[in-house]
Amino acid sequence: MLYFSTRDTSLTATGLEAVVNGIAPDGGLYMPAHFPHLPVESLLSLDALGISKRILGAYFDELSEEEINALIDASYIGRFDTPDLTPLVQLKGAYVLELFRGPTQAFKDVALSVLPHLMTAARKKLGVKKEMLILTATSGDTGKAALTGFCDVAGTRIAVYYPEGGVSPVQQKQMTTQKGKNVAVCAVRGNFDDAQTGVKAIFTSASAKEKLDQLGFSLSSANSINIGRLIPQIMYYYKAYIDLVKIDAIQVGEAVNFIVPTGNFGNILAGYFAKKMGLPVGCLVCASNLNDVLTDFLTTGTYDRRRAFYKTASPSMDILISSNLERLLYLVCGEKTSGYMESLKNTGYYEIDAAELDALKKDFFPARCSEQECLSTVRRVFDENQYLCDTHTAVAFHALSQYQKAEKSTAPAVVLSTASPFKFPNAVLNALEGAAPDDEFEAIERLENISGILAPKALTSLKDIPQRHTDVVKLEEMENYILRKAEQIQWYE
Ligand SMILES: *Cc1c(COP(=O)(O)O)cnc(C)c1O
Repeated sequence: MLYFSTRDTSLTATGLEAVVNGIAPDGGLYMPAHFPHLPVESLLSLDALGISKRILGAYFDELSEEEINALIDASYIGRFDTPDLTPLVQLKGAYVLELFRGPTQAFKDVALSVLPHLMTAARKKLGVKKEMLILTATSGDTGKAALTGFCDVAGTRIAVYYPEGGVSPVQQKQMTTQKGKNVAVCAVRGNFDDAQTGVKAIFTSASAKEKLDQLGFSLSSANSINIGRLIPQIMYYYKAYIDLVKIDAIQVGEAVNFIVPTGNFGNILAGYFAKKMGLPVGCLVCASNLNDVLTDFLTTGTYDRRRAFYKTASPSMDILISSNLERLLYLVCGEKTSGYMESLKNTGYYEIDAAELDALKKDFFPARCSEQECLSTVRRVFDENQYLCDTHTAVAFHALSQYQKAEKSTAPAVVLSTASPFKFPNAVLNALEGAAPDDEFEAIERLENISGILAPKALTSLKDIPQRHTDVVKLEEMENYILRKAEQIQWYE
């Protein structure tokens, strides 16, 4: 399979090259030349690992079946707290697809368990001798999932930038306590958009590239701009559909709607890829928090980031520059994409035409959720089902009720649950009781008592692990920071 840049189709790469490069040389994102057709009928007897193997094999056909099988087994076996990886839970009026059962309690684990193995396989196959330097900006969850995935992986270092004060206290502790010889974690004085823009700038900086080249490093990304992040996520859309068939909730061929709490548009785009591959996906509901730039875009056709940035109770979605939307734009607007991206960079906005907007509206329904609605939805879902959901998942539940009101849809609805509620204990407790202690570990205990569920050990044990990473930089120091780090032969003993 060939891949090319969303901004210039003459810039091509194989799948493995695309993974190693992370981002295309012109700053565009890699797209597959076509969508492999994968009928769900042919996957009905497979488990999560089997489905993953079929999907990865279809997109990375330079790897043999044995290589794909070994890669997926190494990625997942024994690493999630349930062998089916992403269980589907039935509630009143909706299904919840739990994507947070991996090692760091967020949906990012599904892809970031695979990416290091894919990267290692790609380096081997392509004969990349240089050490990989993985640069990552995080709105809270990618950071820990990437650190865990790449920790002590041979021939690789990983650096994570997170917005200072822009992630939950639990998310921050998960990152700053990270062990490993090859990891760096740095707070940035800015928001996630600033951090992501800073990382993209390092990727396209000629001087940074030259210096890192000299030092023997090759840059790549663990953000969802990397196609190797996106493709493993297609699995759970198929898996949820197959689970619905197995419990007789649907017949093969019936449409299923998916409600996705969205920030950088990676998760929901994987659902769109699944639809393009032949999965009967009905509507993809794009659920935004107060940072509702995507909701406005899908409503009006104008993407305008010239607006206030809000810190919300769902911080992993506090994003105004939604990277992966560029891939969707390419599919709908083709060559005009690079112009739109240029306009976004120079003026802060762009506007697609009416036909393009109509095309988007066929597949996507936009919804937004205020802070008050988010908290009251956490409470409502708990009261109605005794099910504790996190604040991001609550944004999706709220979007589902908006969608059902607007469209009178009776198709089965699957809400994607992107994080464990124990990652955001203060906000979740506040939603349930109207108040929460300052200390996040006290809040976790209280939530355990209310819900009768134990918090994951990986989170409660954070209390006793010393903080290891304390670096903080200004935005303009991001490039220098990594160049200085790259000069160090070793980061940690
Ligand atoms: C990253 C994240 C999101 C947003 O996912 P995108 O792929 O960026 O749209 C939603 N919820 C949680 C908990 C996340 O960590």
